[in-house]
Amino acid sequence: MKFKKIIFSCLAVLGLGMSLTSCDINDIKGFIKDVVDESSDDSYITEGGVPTPTPTDPINPGNNNQPVSADNIIYDDFQIHFMALGNDKAGDSVYIKAGDTDILIDAGSRSGSSATTIPYMQQYVKDNKLEFVIATHGDQDHIEAFPKILETFDAGIIIRNQYSNKTTSGFTKMLTAFQSQVDNKGAKAYFANECYDNENGAQRIYQLSDNVTMEIIYNYYYWNTSSDENNYSVCTMFTYKTDTDEKHFFLTGDLEKEGEEKLAEFYDGSTDEKTLPEVDLFKAGHHGSKTSSNDCLLDIIKPKMCVVSCCCGTDEYTGITDNQFPTQAFIDRIAKWTDAVYVTSIYDTFTIETAQAKGNSSDKTGVAVGGNYIHTSGFKMMNGNVIVSCKAEDDEIKLGLYCSNNSTKLKDSEWFNTVITLDGVERPMRNKPSNWQ
Ligand SMILES: [Zn+2]
Repeated sequence: MKFKKIIFSCLAVLGLGMSLTSCDINDIKGFIKDVVDESSDDSYITEGGVPTPTPTDPINPGNNNQPVSADNIIYDDFQIHFMALGNDKAGDSVYIKAGDTDILIDAGSRSGSSATTIPYMQQYVKDNKLEFVIATHGDQDHIEAFPKILETFDAGIIIRNQYSNKTTSGFTKMLTAFQSQVDNKGAKAYFANECYDNENGAQRIYQLSDNVTMEIIYNYYYWNTSSDENNYSVCTMFTYKTDTDEKHFFLTGDLEKEGEEKLAEFYDGSTDEKTLPEVDLFKAGHHGSKTSSNDCLLDIIKPKMCVVSCCCGTDEYTGITDNQFPTQAFIDRIAKWTDAVYVTSIYDTFTIETAQAKGNSSDKTGVAVGGNYIHTSGFKMMNGNVIVSCKAEDDEIKLGLYCSNNSTKLKDSEWFNTVITLDGVERPMRNKPSNWQ
């Protein structure tokens, strides 16, 4: 019986996989593993060649700040899926499942990502409805796939910031798609400040399932304007709670240093309302940019695990390797708290180019004048789709980690340790912080 279900799922998924234009074998393997899990009656993966789960193995036995958890497991109760986006661009699209409640935070990184993310979510969304849709801010890499996704799924409650500096066609199309959900599908649309203030029917805290809540976290820029779109990011805290234990999962979109500082200033611990918990999972701010995930925030939330949603090491924004996502500065800061850092995608190939090869082209901002730079092309899975999940067992909360490609930590990845020669100096792609030695 179970075998038949799995074969059917594999065939269905191979059909899906073949219809995708840019889908490598690892994508398909990831889909198959995920569907096998979904079609199984078990709460963890035992089929499809995935290693047998070992629930008593800690993810990070050597580090005191780590959760006691298990690899290669997806628990049913609560799941956060950091989806790989099917291209070589940084971006966010995070699908969250709490019981029957489905949530989508952002729809990056390009409109074409919907070819990857829609079939992925269709494995899990049973009633074609996303009860919550959140657009953290208006940048392309967070919103472009919303119109296509909302042609497939209906939205229940839509949350975004009242402010945006964006006037792009992608932003306008997103607003049109949101309005269409309100006009034709009965969706409710709220601004994050309304949620925070519990105004006009919006709520700061939503009970998603018996164990899970979603809280809209304070951001100064819900009420104040910024020249930096990233600071408008809607911030969310998911909490999985039993009578005796709780786990926290925190997402801040692309919030920049000013926003993190205001947030840290607000959450000074003086009252319950102004207290942020230590978190079991933090989505790296702004794809692991050097300007986000600053100490002021990390010192409060003390993350035990971190997922970076980006295409590792690409030259999308700069040719300077240390500033390519995830940046050396981000790595140096997160390393104080955890070595459990995972990244969704990575470039396929890279070359070291000279300034002459670059010529006078201005298409690679940030390349040092006269210096070598890293040029990348293509993409493939790094950890792949990263899924963090929970279940309660005898009042203890278990955490599962499952990566569709592999569960190699960033510090142990081939990319991190690749030795390159830049301007005559031999160096690894990233220097290992002392805590990661
Ligand atoms: Zn972004």
